[in-house]
Amino acid sequence: MNDLKTIPYGKQWIDEDDIRAVVDVLRADRITTGPRVKEFEREFSRAAGSRFAVAVSSGTAALHCAMYALGIGPGDEVIVPAMTFAATANCVVFQGGTPVFADIDPLTLLIDPDDVEAKFTPRTKAVIAVDYAGQPCRYDELRGLTSSWGIPLVADACHSLGAAYYGRPVGSLADLSVFSFHPVKHITTGEGGMITTDDPDRAEKAALFRNHGITVDFDRRLAGSSWFYEIVDLGYNYRITDIQCALGISQLKKLAAWTARRREIADRYSRALMSIPQMAPLDVMKEAFHSYHLYVVKIGSDEPGRNRDDVFAALLQRGILVNVHYIPVHLHPYYRKRFGTAEGLCPKAEAAYRQVISLPMFPLMSDADVDRVMETCAAIMKD
Ligand SMILES: *Cc1c(COP(=O)(O)O)cnc(C)c1O
Repeated sequence: MNDLKTIPYGKQWIDEDDIRAVVDVLRADRITTGPRVKEFEREFSRAAGSRFAVAVSSGTAALHCAMYALGIGPGDEVIVPAMTFAATANCVVFQGGTPVFADIDPLTLLIDPDDVEAKFTPRTKAVIAVDYAGQPCRYDELRGLTSSWGIPLVADACHSLGAAYYGRPVGSLADLSVFSFHPVKHITTGEGGMITTDDPDRAEKAALFRNHGITVDFDRRLAGSSWFYEIVDLGYNYRITDIQCALGISQLKKLAAWTARRREIADRYSRALMSIPQMAPLDVMKEAFHSYHLYVVKIGSDEPGRNRDDVFAALLQRGILVNVHYIPVHLHPYYRKRFGTAEGLCPKAEAAYRQVISLPMFPLMSDADVDRVMETCAAIMKD
């Protein structure tokens, strides 16, 4: 290694306002199931352009709540992209359903509506689209398919808070949308997640599932001074605390500025990449307003020293802590064992996986950091 500071691929940004907001809750009476949770949900649904928002303990919990709210169960198939974080498919399995993997468009790495159509069967009960890297999927085509089949469309929008499609915000583009507030995502609550929807019944089901399947929430019980509650279905404890939501409210105020900064960084990368022909950015559709959770490049070369694995190692060695998103889900040992999936199922996702690197992308990065990443890439490709 050398003495240059390391640059991570993603990082949270916590300022003094965030810290004050959290400390205020720590001094208050309610530290969970209190007013900050409701306020965060209200503010978030405004930003996402949805009628309802339900805050939960993680993005994975949000996905699980979404599967429950849609009634996914044994015998049901849910189409998911192969190129995603495993939680997108795991949530189907949590409910006893079967994830069916669809391939991607090799230019954007977004789920390919043609392959979604090819994977449809009478058992298909939902489609989950993933806004890979922060670019919204082709929602007009996906909605056309799911509405013709009479099934719901779910957006795994864990990468795309702040993005929009034809001017409409992510969070309002699918029947249910799901977000994560892990520290590498656009805003953080430490751990946390959110479900947005316009459907009151689905919002209520998600809220029920997050709280043990209990019908009467703590507030209503307080107001009614009643001890009575009922478990009407099997739920979990997927609640999020007021401490976390206070942080979320404070972070959300900065989302627009941070998204603008992410887009500036992306521009700077894209311009620099024009002089590194072996490293190509992904395509951005003109109808998409991309919010760049990730900045992903594809390395076409197989040559020693210039292939993906060697470039990855060389960047790490120079203190640039890049990442790879993702190993296609169907290639993980658990999926191979449980569902018999294997190479060849989604060839475009498998080929993309061998080429991608996620470069550092977070709003606190300076222009000098971006330039250092690009100069390092250029030097590796020239060596
Ligand atoms: C981060 C992420 C999740 C899971 O979110 P957690 O908050 O870490 O549980 C799910 N899907 C995608 C695409 C993600 O990037």
